[in-house]
Amino acid sequence: MSVLRADTAAIASAAAALGAGACVAFPTETVYGLGAVAFDARAVAQIFEIKARPTFDPLIVHVLDAEMLARVVRDVPPLAARLAEKFWPGALTLVLAKRPEIPGIVTAGLETVAVRMPAHPVARALLAATKMPIAAPSANPFGRLSPTSAEHVRAQLGERVEIVLDGGATPLGIESTIVAFDPVPTLLRHGAIARESIEAEIGSLLDATAPTEGSAPQAPGQLLQHYAPRTPIRVIDRLPPLAVRAGAAYLGFQHGAEGYAAQRVLSPAGSESEAAAHLFEYLHELDALGLERIDAARVPQRGLGAAIADRLARASAR
Ligand code: AMP
Ligand code: MG
Repeated sequence: MSVLRADTAAIASAAAALGAGACVAFPTETVYGLGAVAFDARAVAQIFEIKARPTFDPLIVHVLDAEMLARVVRDVPPLAARLAEKFWPGALTLVLAKRPEIPGIVTAGLETVAVRMPAHPVARALLAATKMPIAAPSANPFGRLSPTSAEHVRAQLGERVEIVLDGGATPLGIESTIVAFDPVPTLLRHGAIARESIEAEIGSLLDATAPTEGSAPQAPGQLLQHYAPRTPIRVIDRLPPLAVRAGAAYLGFQHGAEGYAAQRVLSPAGSESEAAAHLFEYLHELDALGLERIDAARVPQRGLGAAIADRLARASAR
């Protein structure tokens, strides 16, 4: 594996590797992605292998512009077009009818494909150099903490990825929001764009974000257990007695707590978006300490708080 600073030469090498059927990790504004050319079923199969991701869990296809979008989806219904107009390039994923050229492995056999136009300059430069849509889930082992730095990718995926483009820390730090139209607009995943912002554009969304138990959820990826650190984590509404804090780490929202072996505060200013940007970074740091437990304070549900609460609930599910 080579971790390369994402300059023009490195992006050209990464594009060449993708063109030759390899997988490449790269930064987006949400988290780092592990990408392959979306039309290349063999290359995409390697993503599932490297991540140990079950093939029932479909990938998000990244496109540069409207022209590339038209090579991936059959059509864009009016409400989806409104959202694309408002939020693209950006952290919103739309589930739309796929073109036959998108192989079934990308969509877990579904006739729909999840697609997004990223805003990160490195992701865009890579798409422009590759000239192909790139299928890319998060660049972490399936079910584990999402990567918000090139170092997270290196540490979690090791030698299995040919090139990691290092574009620094990802600005949003949490995955995209996913909306489907079947045909009613439906929220499939809370993410970096608040539900309220989407509803302000197109009216109320059906909510299909509730975790489902079992191996083949109705909306793929709505798994009960996900985003998990190695250290057991629990969400707490009040602090436990001092005596049981010493061996554990604390993840606070706005405030710290005394008596813990280590702690991080997601946003001293109480901002949900700042907290979302720090969530995985701090969980990686606390997890690396190998303590007996992480106590995570419950975060307020407004704005991106819903996305944070969703990640913590799945991370703590047993
Ligand atoms: P990741 O790329 O790791 O953030 O995961 C992508 C997620 O997108 C999946 O886990 C699914 O929840 C969702 N997804 C992708 N494609 C579809 C689809 N065709 N229908 C419904 N959900 C999808
Ligand atoms: Mg993921």
